[in-house]
Amino acid sequence: MNNFLEFFHLMDKKGKTFRPKKRFTHGTIRYSLHKQAQASLSSGINLREAVRLPPGEDMNDWTAVHVVDFFNRINLIYGTVSEYCTETTCPKMSGGSRYEYFWQDGVNYKKPAALPAPKYIENLMDWVEGQINNEEIFPVTTDVPFPRSFQTLSKKILTRLFRVFVHVYIHHFDRIVCIGAEPHVNSCFKHFYYFVKEFDLIPIKEMEPLDELVKQICKD
Ligand SMILES: [Zn+2]
Repeated sequence: MNNFLEFFHLMDKKGKTFRPKKRFTHGTIRYSLHKQAQASLSSGINLREAVRLPPGEDMNDWTAVHVVDFFNRINLIYGTVSEYCTETTCPKMSGGSRYEYFWQDGVNYKKPAALPAPKYIENLMDWVEGQINNEEIFPVTTDVPFPRSFQTLSKKILTRLFRVFVHVYIHHFDRIVCIGAEPHVNSCFKHFYYFVKEFDLIPIKEMEPLDELVKQICKD
């Protein structure tokens, strides 16, 4: 298998998805951007270049496509380790001993709450899914504008999705290696990292837990 899209496609077919994949509607601009973004990855070009906004395209569309694609892939990645991520193995949503995350969504958790990792990630993925399925936030047709808060909200979604990478890399990397997914997860992470760096979407401080990884794999 040459590239991570094929790998994830295979995992998807095996039903390894943590939750259903969000799909783009055929015939929409976002669908063609999604295809364009995927094609540029399949050809193995430089990821740092692949994330740049194509000339004439809208930043909100470009962001929406990436947020949804990353959600789908991170969903698959977590799906491959989820049976090993339990309240016993991971009683905290942590990234090693130095970082712990607290869940807050303003609805069910009004104050930051310490949750076991699987519970935290379940809440996180539910929350992201709720945002991307909300057509007022992620409009499905071009005659419906993006809300003014779209970029701010996307930053929040990506910042939260990054925490799943943190947990998986720090606590479940052995499992990733064991099933041969390491190069694919690394490629997916690199793509994510270059995208958020290109548009400055995640605070530097949030990325600290994976500084070492970034130094090792995001060199090109
Ligand atoms: Zn875990």
